[in-house]
Amino acid sequence: MLAALSRDSKSHGVRLTPAQLEQFDTYLRLLMEWSGRVNLVGDTAPDVVRQRHFVESLALGAALREREILRPDSRVLDLGAGAGFPGVVLKIAWPGIRLTLLEATAKKAAFLSALVEALGLDKTPVLTGRAETLGHDSTLRGTFDLVVARAVAPLPVLLELALPFARVGGRLVTPKGSRASEEIAAAAHALSVLGGKVFTAPLRVPGPAQTLVAVVKERETPAEYSRRPGAPAKAPL
Ligand code: SAH
Repeated sequence: MLAALSRDSKSHGVRLTPAQLEQFDTYLRLLMEWSGRVNLVGDTAPDVVRQRHFVESLALGAALREREILRPDSRVLDLGAGAGFPGVVLKIAWPGIRLTLLEATAKKAAFLSALVEALGLDKTPVLTGRAETLGHDSTLRGTFDLVVARAVAPLPVLLELALPFARVGGRLVTPKGSRASEEIAAAAHALSVLGGKVFTAPLRVPGPAQTLVAVVKERETPAEYSRRPGAPAKAPL
């Protein structure tokens, strides 16, 4: 797994040190250990984890580094981190970032805490709770340069969950598959209510084509957003 990961990451311009490759090995081992108890990823076969999770997350990170959206000391929130994708991969590859992981499911958050510990990631808080609630916490609201979220919600819903956390001038970034342009069209109202401007770029990943969707937060999010837990998904803006 490690030789292939090293090769794949180089193809995205990311050079992983032996210590970083060792961290990915630990990550894979922990995923396999916990997968019986907690529903973390569909398939823990090493090649699947490498391609679908490690390399996809590295490709996203590389695209963000190239565009200076991810900087060496960016304050990054992974919203709905699940098993840690893409946030934990970004932290392994670019250890200077200041990463916070947010996850609603307690069992997944417990995995994330064990993972942060096993990998020795510095200052990486794991928040257990819903974005709708934590987005109103004054220590979190408006404080992140970058909010990343993969496979969490359709764009109109995700905007309401994520933009409260970004600072003005900060961004939400999410990889999307073949439905990217439909989701962007459906998000027009949410973008105008919440004050976001959307950009896209192609994302080079193994498997089906993906688009990087980046939304710049242009002004403060109105105080009433996010609405109460569940409301953004039930009645999207
Ligand atoms: N980002 C990971 C996990 C995707 S699954 C990956 O790409 O592999 C989506 C995750 O988001 C789940 O773990 C779910 O518990 C979490 N989630 C969904 N809605 C949420 C919300 N409103 N607040 C916090 N976490 C949420």
